[in-house]
Amino acid sequence: MSDGDPVADARQVRYDQARYVDDGQYEPLLSEKDRTRVEIGDESPLPDDLTRDELELPALSEPELARHYTRLSQMIYGIDSGPYPLGSCTMKYNPKFTEDVAALPGASVHPDRSAASVQGTLELLSRLQDYLGRIGGMDAVTLQPPAGAAGEFVGIRVAAAYHEHNGEDHRDEVIVPESAHGTNFASAALGGYDVVSLPSDDEGRVDLEALDAALSEHTAALMLTNPNTLGLFERDIEEIADMVHDVGGLLYYDGANLNALLGRARPGDMGFDVMHYNVHKTFATPHGGGGPGAGPVGVVDELAPFLPAPRVRAAEDGTRAEDRNSDGDSDSAGAGEQRYELFDPEHTIGKVHGFQGNWLVLVKAFAYIARLGDEGLADASAKAVLNANYLASQIEFGVPYGPFHHEFVASAGERDAADVAKRMLDYGVHPPTTKWPEIVPEALMTEPTEVESKDTLDRLAAAFNAVAREDDETLADAPERTTARRIDQTSAARSPRLSWHELDD
Ligand SMILES: *Cc1c(COP(=O)(O)O)cnc(C)c1O
Repeated sequence: MSDGDPVADARQVRYDQARYVDDGQYEPLLSEKDRTRVEIGDESPLPDDLTRDELELPALSEPELARHYTRLSQMIYGIDSGPYPLGSCTMKYNPKFTEDVAALPGASVHPDRSAASVQGTLELLSRLQDYLGRIGGMDAVTLQPPAGAAGEFVGIRVAAAYHEHNGEDHRDEVIVPESAHGTNFASAALGGYDVVSLPSDDEGRVDLEALDAALSEHTAALMLTNPNTLGLFERDIEEIADMVHDVGGLLYYDGANLNALLGRARPGDMGFDVMHYNVHKTFATPHGGGGPGAGPVGVVDELAPFLPAPRVRAAEDGTRAEDRNSDGDSDSAGAGEQRYELFDPEHTIGKVHGFQGNWLVLVKAFAYIARLGDEGLADASAKAVLNANYLASQIEFGVPYGPFHHEFVASAGERDAADVAKRMLDYGVHPPTTKWPEIVPEALMTEPTEVESKDTLDRLAAAFNAVAREDDETLADAPERTTARRIDQTSAARSPRLSWHELDD
């Protein structure tokens, strides 16, 4: 890499990657490359109309197959290809050792095995609950919910069960700041509540007067994230907590921004009663792409009896295995060792996910937390905050609020934020989140995370600034160096081609 110009360097990286993909041509599907008809015989015991005697299968050599997948992997941009500053999503690098841990033979246990025979599994889950409880300042944790949004729903249902148990089912409102993530509104509505939207003050924080006006004996909960989606710390959080508690409401913490506080401040200490953790954001497990994730929920003591069933705990009597095991399985807890058991909380809202949630994701989160320890977690949040503030200071787009925690929201101003994002792809970096939160016009919501070096942050800033200086026409035409260029998103959404057969038409 050349003359020390980061933009030129970024372009070079992009060109190097692009060499592997024919210009503007998609990598065909395996079944398009070769359609060999394979006879599969007629020995099936099934009725004729349910069987086939021929299958179309690609008959390709190993190198053809290896190249196909390698080319596909080069057509996509991921956290392993470069910086991915998608604000609020916390796209941080997932250390590979967590994959090794999840691939250990002991990690693949059948979920239907008896508690007595999988004591190690239960111990890991129990210890992860403890870790998360300590990190968030919560008394009890469930690991079942499969995503942050699912955690919100569980948290809201737990709050509803609590109010109902106390004879307070007249509480029919959940308050959500207008800058909140869309899932907050959705979870409150799905949970059966009327959603009251709360305006922000001039500085982008909760407006205390507006909050006072919104609170009443109808308030079931206020959902907040802190730092908020603008990356600003809600300095009045203790007063906010008192206000909500004074009317008998609960305070819900959206844990998506926990990356900023890790090892330094705890939602529980700020007065929050219930929270979710996005393990794929804060604890570097892969973002699922819709696939398996985890969104554990933590609560204070008063709410623990309502958590989903079953939960895991250390058995109080610590009785040795042989004495307790009635199902004939050999016990995997050694004599004298702490035993773990499953139990149903007294007023549980029921089961929200099979077994204990997405086990292997939880194993990775456990491995990550255990490896970093208290110091490592605190170091991560320090660097996340430093990186966001450094990057904010380097870019030429306007940054209306501040000072920030782990993310910041710049404004594309007169520019269309989507055009800016598309053009950034040409500089070999992933763009930030765009057009959200809506209180900043043409928002470019940026979160570099703690894993990026100063060199990478400089490369990102150079890409932002190069785009800031380009003319509208160039932006409207971007991206020009990606495999797929501007996609017609409306038709893609309205008339999707769901099968490769349709590509023939
Ligand atoms: C990501 C996010 C969520 C939803 O979490 P998922 O795990 O993606 O379901 C909720 N709130 C905020 C602020 C987020 O950034």
